[in-house]
Amino acid sequence: MSNKRKCLMCETEYKYCPYCRDYDQQPRWKTTFDKEECRNVYNILTGYYSGNYTKDVAREKLLNVNIDGIVFNNAVKKQIDEVLQVSTEELKTVHDEITDSDDIMDGIKNIEPVLKNDKVFEKADEKKKQVVKIKPVSTVKPVVNKATNK
Ligand SMILES: [Zn+2]
Repeated sequence: MSNKRKCLMCETEYKYCPYCRDYDQQPRWKTTFDKEECRNVYNILTGYYSGNYTKDVAREKLLNVNIDGIVFNNAVKKQIDEVLQVSTEELKTVHDEITDSDDIMDGIKNIEPVLKNDKVFEKADEKKKQVVKIKPVSTVKPVVNKATNK
């Protein structure tokens, strides 16, 4: 049996044989994938498309796999894009969750006069001035040699 294989995900050619002693030390997933990242991506995509992972979970897992530089085949690429892509419905949900911006602006308008009238800032400024007025005290202490100081 030929030990030449092609990764299911990235189509990289590599050598592995599940029946040869030479490859005994290598993991069994080598039968299908050339590297662990490909195997991980496969598991995540399978989990997502079989309904075990929600899109959010799948996306997070996918982002944790270092897939930089791996050229997946087109079918896999599409699936990855699908998982990573945030749908317009999801974006709309996020948008709708944000409180109406008019309410926020009204809130700011109400706070502003309170801040302006508050004496807190003036007091803070006074304290700063006081701190500056205090003269620095020398922190250098005379060195006492304990060994000779009987
Ligand atoms: Zn691969």
